[in-house]
Amino acid sequence: MADVLDLHPNQEEAIGGDRAIVFPPQGMACPVPSCGDHIFNSYPGLMKHWKKRHTASIRVHKCPRCPKEDPRRTHITQHLLRHHHVPMNNLREAQLGVTTEVKSNKQFISPGDILPPRKSQDAAVPILEPVGAMDLDQAMDFYGLDL
Ligand SMILES: [Zn+2]
Ligand SMILES: [Zn+2]
Repeated sequence: MADVLDLHPNQEEAIGGDRAIVFPPQGMACPVPSCGDHIFNSYPGLMKHWKKRHTASIRVHKCPRCPKEDPRRTHITQHLLRHHHVPMNNLREAQLGVTTEVKSNKQFISPGDILPPRKSQDAAVPILEPVGAMDLDQAMDFYGLDL
């Protein structure tokens, strides 16, 4: 038994969890000091703000048939269905034409050493990289968000 690693939930500090603030049930302001003291009542609300302001670059998915682009691939899929009337049996093929592009965020405010808060203590949520390109769909899935 000695060589079995016992990954107890209380050991999450060992993977750097101690550096990220846990989002409190009563809500909180953005931990980046220059953001002011607006209180975000929900975790998804704060994370939406974080994506918008504290992510240096963002990956967008581009419609193959028009100039539309969106950070969420599912939105492009819906757009293909609704606006371009792609039939369901051609959807997979149409999705192959969707390209991605990394764009710099014009509204970016550097969070410095500050990490985005975590959802709760008992959820072992991977910590987002504070800078760099991020796939919003993946991030949303990690955090269980649907904005
Ligand atoms: Zn902020
Ligand atoms: Zn389009």
